[in-house]
Amino acid sequence: MPLYEYQCKTCDSKFEMLQSINEVDTELACPECDSFETAKVFAPFASLGTEKSAACDTGST
Ligand SMILES: [Zn+2]
Repeated sequence: MPLYEYQCKTCDSKFEMLQSINEVDTELACPECDSFETAKVFAPFASLGTEKSAACDTGST
């Protein structure tokens, strides 16, 4: 079951929710302020990697 991250537009808090494919369009209430002004956030799985070009240091002439 995919894990989705949502962000509340009212209080700006983020929360994660497990939803099945059939429930992805369900409106979610913010657990902080009960607002329905929430938007799905697509967070990449590998968001911890900060090395982008540090692995190309080998193979010099
Ligand atoms: Zn909220």
